[in-house]
Amino acid sequence: MAEWEAVIGLEVHAHLKTRTKMFCRCELEYGAGENTRTCPVCLAHPGALPVPNALAIEHTIKLGLALGCEISPHAIFARKNYFYPDLPKGYQISQYEQPLCGRGALTVPTPEGDEVVGITRAHLEEDAAKTVHAGGATGRSVGADYSLVDFNRGGTPLLEIVSEPDIRSADEADRFLRLLRQTIVELGVSDAEMEKGTMRADVNVSVRERGEEGFRPRWELKNMNSFTFIRRGIDAAVREQIAAYERGESLEQSTYDYDPDTDRLTVHRSKEEADDYRYFPEPDLVPVEPPAELVERLRAEIGELPGSRIRRIEAEIGFDPAYELVATGNEPKAVALVEHGVDWRTAANVAMNQLAAITPLPENVAGLAEIVEARDSLDRAAYTAAFAASAEQGFDAQATLAQTVTSDESALEPAIDAVIAGNPEQVESYRGGKEGVLGFLVGQVMKETQGKADPKVVNRLLREKLQP
Ligand SMILES: [Zn+2]
Repeated sequence: MAEWEAVIGLEVHAHLKTRTKMFCRCELEYGAGENTRTCPVCLAHPGALPVPNALAIEHTIKLGLALGCEISPHAIFARKNYFYPDLPKGYQISQYEQPLCGRGALTVPTPEGDEVVGITRAHLEEDAAKTVHAGGATGRSVGADYSLVDFNRGGTPLLEIVSEPDIRSADEADRFLRLLRQTIVELGVSDAEMEKGTMRADVNVSVRERGEEGFRPRWELKNMNSFTFIRRGIDAAVREQIAAYERGESLEQSTYDYDPDTDRLTVHRSKEEADDYRYFPEPDLVPVEPPAELVERLRAEIGELPGSRIRRIEAEIGFDPAYELVATGNEPKAVALVEHGVDWRTAANVAMNQLAAITPLPENVAGLAEIVEARDSLDRAAYTAAFAASAEQGFDAQATLAQTVTSDESALEPAIDAVIAGNPEQVESYRGGKEGVLGFLVGQVMKETQGKADPKVVNRLLREKLQP
């Protein structure tokens, strides 16, 4: 039986974080009422002319620099012609030859070493409007009663990043995508939220026998908007392609829809129907020639990249937790706790769990760190309460801990020993069989600890210590 390997390339789209659209001044606002953010330019009225958004160009260059791409000294906008109701001009302004960002790479850390995934290009374009198919069961055009178009999204600046087919498994694709997403978010160029539709990916999958040169026809999974579905879609495509080849069939290049409910792929369209976009340079826009000072200013704004920080933190807590911490964006919280004396492992754990939903961190990080440090000596409920209190204004960690019930045995032991030593008669009669005396001794310990001890733990510790 042949040994197969997957060949995967990704095209990632991210909405750029700008106040206004790519070629007009309509404001971008998630959740605004339908068709309330439109103008003659983005509705393609005759004679309306596009004016490029400078910030969108800067964002694209910045991302390109972070990926080590060559920045084009002479980038060109091009018309990509096709017809669809959500594209009023009948073409999309995109980039084809001479995109803003040429070849680069993203280095993805893995437990086995670094994996370098080539970046073919990154370019800037405008998004189409949003079509909503209503009345059908699937939300697709087939079977819908009618379709509506919301032009608010039309003209949103969109960054497209195309990778080389360097990825060999669903796991690798997942790691690449999550690292790329975190890089995009940290650079401040996009929120890249799949669930809000500000990031999506097309996934190209083919398989070949290990050692085989060249590529076989690929399947393109369009508009994937969840990391989980991307993994499952890749696995399904790989599985179905291998099965087809092993049955002796041949495959053709096609576009597929992945249905997460059935875990099946259905053909969207085959190669025969592939579009010819008749690209040509956009006559209404001059080429973009980024000045060297601009490129250098943007380069200077890029900090240490996530991949490199994963390696640094890996030395403290191991690969998987380090990757999760950085890729989920919880790392700054862990770093803040570490800076206040909490050890890395505990800090990462707290940042990934209790603090995951809390943004930003409470102002009093030092106080929070004290509570975290004391967590082993507190019972669960007391720790949760103290943790929650740390977010309040004027939080005093010392005062809170002083009033908090402690179940830490090593903290209670001195008090218990003192009570045993100070009450020889009662100890004697308990040992002689008078069970009821235990309550008195527990009371003494509570007094000794100013009521902070957990009575259940005191009770158990006293019984253990007084065993004959
Ligand atoms: Zn507009």
